[in-house]
Amino acid sequence: MNAAPAPVTLRRHGSVAVVEIAYAPVNPLSKGVRTGLVEAMATLKADPTVTAVVLSGGPGRFIAGADIREMNAPPDEPFLPDVVAAIEGLDKPVIAAIDGATLGGGLEVALGCDARIGSPKALLGLTETRLGIIPGAGGTQRLPRIVGIAAAIPLVCEARILKAKEAHALGLLDAVADDPLAAALDFAATAQKRPLSALPVPEGDAAAEQAAADAALKGAKGQPAIGEAVRVIRAAREGTFADGLARERAAFLALRESSEAKALRHLFFAEREAGKVPGIEGAAARPFASVAVIGAGTMGAGIASALLDAGLNVTLVERDEDAAQAGATRVRGLYDRPLKSGRVSAAQVDERLARLVPTADWDSLSAVDLVIEAAFEDMDVKADIFRRLDTVVRPGAVLASNTSYLDLDAIADLTSRPEDVVGLHFFAPANLMKLLEVVRGAKTAPDVLATALGLAKKIGKQPVVAGNCDGFIGNRIYAVYRRHAEYLVEDGAAPEEVDAALESYGFAMGIFAVSDMSGLDIAFAMRKRRAATRDPNERYVTIPDLLCEAGRLGRKTGSGWYAYDTAGKKSLDPRTADLIAAVRTERGIAPRAFTPGEIQRRLVCVMANEGAKELEEGIALRASDIDLAFVNGYGFPRLKGGPMFAADQMGLPAVLAEVEAAHAAGGAGSAPSQLLIDLARSGGSFAAWRKTNA
Ligand code: NAD
Repeated sequence: MNAAPAPVTLRRHGSVAVVEIAYAPVNPLSKGVRTGLVEAMATLKADPTVTAVVLSGGPGRFIAGADIREMNAPPDEPFLPDVVAAIEGLDKPVIAAIDGATLGGGLEVALGCDARIGSPKALLGLTETRLGIIPGAGGTQRLPRIVGIAAAIPLVCEARILKAKEAHALGLLDAVADDPLAAALDFAATAQKRPLSALPVPEGDAAAEQAAADAALKGAKGQPAIGEAVRVIRAAREGTFADGLARERAAFLALRESSEAKALRHLFFAEREAGKVPGIEGAAARPFASVAVIGAGTMGAGIASALLDAGLNVTLVERDEDAAQAGATRVRGLYDRPLKSGRVSAAQVDERLARLVPTADWDSLSAVDLVIEAAFEDMDVKADIFRRLDTVVRPGAVLASNTSYLDLDAIADLTSRPEDVVGLHFFAPANLMKLLEVVRGAKTAPDVLATALGLAKKIGKQPVVAGNCDGFIGNRIYAVYRRHAEYLVEDGAAPEEVDAALESYGFAMGIFAVSDMSGLDIAFAMRKRRAATRDPNERYVTIPDLLCEAGRLGRKTGSGWYAYDTAGKKSLDPRTADLIAAVRTERGIAPRAFTPGEIQRRLVCVMANEGAKELEEGIALRASDIDLAFVNGYGFPRLKGGPMFAADQMGLPAVLAEVEAAHAAGGAGSAPSQLLIDLARSGGSFAAWRKTNA
């Protein structure tokens, strides 16, 4: 029987001991690693022939951070603070030799050492707040002893990841060396014990510390971890080091159990799961160095910019030369803001734009690897484009459409190569929004899907794979959400009450304000297109149609649900209230009041119910994909984890009861999904559910 190799081993270089962690793939702080480190320190303490210790993670590594597999379980001994205490308490100097990512608990271990030597590839950061917690093993107390309180606050609260050079400049690394292990061994020969816990927190500028705290709290957006991080870092100067550690640990343990941390952990796992797509195992992505975008409007320009930012070459195709040049100008315009704020340099923008070729010449498409069509949302326009692409683009190139609602399979079947067609549904503004819905057609080849996922990764988007249906994952649920928001209004809630309830739930903007921003005409056109096929038993609210017919299309016309002044400032429009009152009277509806809690519950539950229908139909592979889509593409609050997670937290029997009430209010199209009914009865959850007959 082969025993698993020990995750922590000891070897000798003369009087210096090397403690090496080897736990694939990134040396996380799993129980075995923590135990091995504590045991190694005990062995070294008892060995008088050892004068100094080097702690190494082997080539390319140190300790990446906590073990995510253990994150949802209660803390288990030995606890990380005990590991750090064992290292810091060893009566011989310990030098960390850092090569690679050293985040969260990994950096806390390094801060327990007496010196840190990093390679140019080292990345250091206390990134715990990304998961709704704070460092729990001394990070908030040792870091300020190196960098001071004012600098420590943003490092922790913004979860900044420092490159070796920055870490060295701040004193987090004592030296940068190409071979950190060799350099650490050299250093160990003369190293002294210098525990950070014995150092005072440097005196700081009180105003700078206050400013750092204010800035962090302002950016906190309701995240309790930020407030706690600020509090415990600022308290590092009060009392003993042990007092500080105790304050930190108590806050860490409480935050770990908070609903916000649970939601963020859920999203963390969701991101890892999203790339796992049945049927594409072993499929290699096709090349995509050279990409063409067809249509340089709002979306095409944003998509082109996202591609350029990732180093790809982009051919931007428009209807004629003038439109192509206007498209290039639109792309350039997207860099105005980042240039002004200093996020990119003029030289970087020039380099990116040099990779953009605006043209009206379709022959230039013969050599591209991948095409993304972003022309008008009109089947005839798209049909014409895909037929032309089929004749000019080389065999094996991937043909993608950014369509929001059209039937991807119908588009694919217009070509002689439907297996090469895939949906790449970006969200506006496409250069900024994280979500990329990847629509898998009935005939999409596995390697085409793999290419789409590879492209998403390359350009820094969060992919979510969806099946082909009206609205795919996101817009389909969004349509139900909007309809139910309108039912609430017709039944008695004011639009601004609905928006305020959504904003207090954590949405950046309420749904009616969002509609005004995007323009009410787009949804109006769609409703008209679908009028003939709409189920007559589905309740239909005419208020938005009446707004459009009155020329009130939202922000761009100065009024919609709200009124806007010339500077774009929003206010209540009494005409909206009058219109709503008139519609209620005409329909014989006696308005009733809704509390913010009722509004929130209703809208989250109808979203989850439609999501459950997508799961049953195989449109979404798993509930967590739906959550990712909503937090990355629709402004759903991350701290609530997404609609499916929120429904699980609410308890599915309560969700079912709410959906039954929503069904009574909305009629056809709002019935509870069978999956929701089954899970509510069996005590199941969306999170644990997987389609078994696939
Ligand atoms: P838009 O009207 O701003 O831009 C469309 C562009 O395509 C125009 O510049 C037009 O000249 C060009 N075009 C039209 N026919 C063409 C052809 N045959 N050859 C070359 N260029 C052609 O539209 P948009 O908002 O950018 O939307 C584009 C697509 O993206 C649509 O399918 C839409 O549903 C989808 N989409 C839009 C959004 C959004 O929020 N606007 C979000 C996601 C997806």
